[in-house]
Amino acid sequence: MATPAPDRPDEPRLLDRFGRVATDLRVSLTDRCNLRCTYCMPAEGLDWMPRGEMLSDGELARLIRIAVELLGVTNVRFTGGEPTLRKGIESIIAGTAALVPRPRISMTTNAIGLARSAGRLVGAGLDRINVSLDTLRQERFLALTRRDRLDDVLDGLAAARDAGLTPVKVNAVLVRGRNDDEAVALLRYCLEQGYELRFIEQMPLDAQHGWDRADMVTAEEILTALRAEFDLVPSPVPRGAAPAERWQVDGGPGEVGVIASVTRPFCGDCDRTRLTADGQLRSCLFSQTETDLRAPLRAGAGDEEIAGLWRTAMWGKLAGHTINEAGFAQPLRPMSAIGG
Ligand code: SAM
Ligand code: SF4
Repeated sequence: MATPAPDRPDEPRLLDRFGRVATDLRVSLTDRCNLRCTYCMPAEGLDWMPRGEMLSDGELARLIRIAVELLGVTNVRFTGGEPTLRKGIESIIAGTAALVPRPRISMTTNAIGLARSAGRLVGAGLDRINVSLDTLRQERFLALTRRDRLDDVLDGLAAARDAGLTPVKVNAVLVRGRNDDEAVALLRYCLEQGYELRFIEQMPLDAQHGWDRADMVTAEEILTALRAEFDLVPSPVPRGAAPAERWQVDGGPGEVGVIASVTRPFCGDCDRTRLTADGQLRSCLFSQTETDLRAPLRAGAGDEEIAGLWRTAMWGKLAGHTINEAGFAQPLRPMSAIGG
């Protein structure tokens, strides 16, 4: 058995010292990607995880089962890197969908290849999807992602909607001087297509450590640009633990969200726990420490022992990130290797 934290109440779920309970598991299926978004990774890519260090499909399935059956996780989101590059993704989703109680299953993806695979992913049990799309202009897409794949992404989005992965959510990061004049065009497009757009403030999680606060396009700037064209009123839907603040556009039903991770942190309501593709547990995107679940898993630990390690790790979750404090240090792992 893992040694429980001395002051932790006897609670099976993933409780922390601040009263938060993590019910939303983010699982990174790979650190690899077929794009090279400039705010995420360098043109040459990264030193990808060696295969042997990655969890096998069976190991991943076991950890997800422990999270759902023993730890009260109700939502599982697959991410990466680019999760659709993982060969076993359909069977991993199907295994997750067979758990009792069945968790809600979602995925964050760049949508490349989704035009072909959306139907199969839905068949396996995928419920919802978030697609990253930062620009509608071909030459800008090439400059921002270093790949000429805009049409594939737009086709993937449409396929996701047609396959029933609704509401399809679109994530957009605005980068100053690159696409920061596209907030209105992106929102118009998403409203027309029936997608729910959310802007995400750029965070200091890029592999190059090139984030610069002065360069970040803030939530306030985005809202100012949108308000010049649209009437925005706060959404009547309660926010709960969702990271996005939402606004109804021009009387609804269309909405837009802004995830102001830097300028308006929402750590107090966080309900996340994160598992990397190499079996490391993180209680926060910005954690400086990780808990290794792969070694005990491979050494023959039982389900309860793994669950105990997970509970102890989450009990130690910090109150929030410290991006806005002096002495903030970016985590060693970039976003693409944590799972966004
Ligand atoms: N490859 C998939 C994708 O792009 O959707 C999933 C992984 S990606 C790391 C998840 C999300 O993180 C994407 O919406 C992406 O735009 C966002 N992201 C990546 N780097 C970021 C950064 N430095 N700040 C804010 N968001 C970032
Ligand atoms: Fe790949 Fe997503 Fe990072 Fe872009 S944001 S490079 S699509 S992992």
